[in-house]
Amino acid sequence: MSKSILILPGDGIGPEIVAEAVKVLASLRDNYGLDIDLDEALVGGAAIDATGGPLPDATLDLAKEADALLLGAVGGPKWEALDISIRPEKGLLGLRSSLNLFANLRPAILYPQLADASSLKADIVAGLDIMIVRELTGGIYFGHPRGIRELDSGERQGFNTLVYSESEIDRIARVAFDIAKKRGKRVCSVDKANVLECTELWREVVSRIGEEHPDVELSHMYVDNAAMQLVKWPKQFDVMVTTNMFGDILSDCAAMLTGSIGMLPSASLDEQGKGMYEPIHGSAPDIAGKGTANPLATILSVAMMLRYSLDEPAMADRIERAVDKVLDDGLRTPDIMSDEMTEVGCEAMGDAIVAAID
Ligand code: NAD
Repeated sequence: MSKSILILPGDGIGPEIVAEAVKVLASLRDNYGLDIDLDEALVGGAAIDATGGPLPDATLDLAKEADALLLGAVGGPKWEALDISIRPEKGLLGLRSSLNLFANLRPAILYPQLADASSLKADIVAGLDIMIVRELTGGIYFGHPRGIRELDSGERQGFNTLVYSESEIDRIARVAFDIAKKRGKRVCSVDKANVLECTELWREVVSRIGEEHPDVELSHMYVDNAAMQLVKWPKQFDVMVTTNMFGDILSDCAAMLTGSIGMLPSASLDEQGKGMYEPIHGSAPDIAGKGTANPLATILSVAMMLRYSLDEPAMADRIERAVDKVLDDGLRTPDIMSDEMTEVGCEAMGDAIVAAID
């Protein structure tokens, strides 16, 4: 049965980079028998302009029916003055929570051809391939009670609650172990179990799930050490699994090890493997409409979609090999340009990937 994919171009460079990713999907459909239906909907600023809200009911209905979603990016200066409750980013958060996308997968991959783009020495990062699995719908970002209150002394006090139930830890740990089995078979669980009871429970539950997976090597690391190790010797990691807030910080740190924000895809999955796939970068209003955006993060998001939601790992391999080949051939968008390479725009890069797949 054909799988339905909802395309959400969004704002800024979103429509440009998504158009190139759709070209790749269409090529796999037309030339390699990928059985998909594509539909498109509005989200973010584009949806605000057309309907008054960042996540129209029509979009949410289509999103609930789809097997997978491909998102460009949302937001931009045009909508920054709006009330926070109806800003473009609310469209994204609404999709994540309505679809219960609790597992955020953020690979930090550094293609050897781009090792010079990192601020770290090339031998420390060349060939880097880490998968960070971040819990996305729980933890301190969602815990109650929360707020700012006034104490008897008249001083104000801010407070948030870090809370995880066993089932929430159990399901994210299982995602991490399943992914590790398809990769290097190592999981490092990051917590602060020496200080926070909540993550003491985290460590206990992750260890229990680990016992069910004797073929995967499990280690535990405190978050402060994990931050240091990511910068010191990042290649020691295969899969890292952690809480919402620790994952937020560590995944940005890991992404920046690669030095090329235009190269990194991401996925957010529900319990059935349905997912929303998107580049980690934003809508880049500074280069929108110039035709210079790097579409590779979005194209690599399609590869993740094929692997994690559509069960088409061979098609995913095809895309990743095509990216490798195009980089080997010396093609670079301006954000990853270096000496003696050939500079191309967004569209030419998309065309080159389609040609390399063929
Ligand atoms: P950004 O990621 O959009 O841009 C940061 C820098 O990286 C800019 O110089 C930009 O030109 C460059 N860049 C980003 N993607 C690129 C690409 N594919 N190719 C080449 N260069 C690229 O971050 P920002 O400037 O902080 O945010 C801009 C807007 O995007 C804001 O409205 C923000 O709220 C929104 N945003 C959206 C998402 C999302 O949709 N998931 C994520 C982050 C930021």
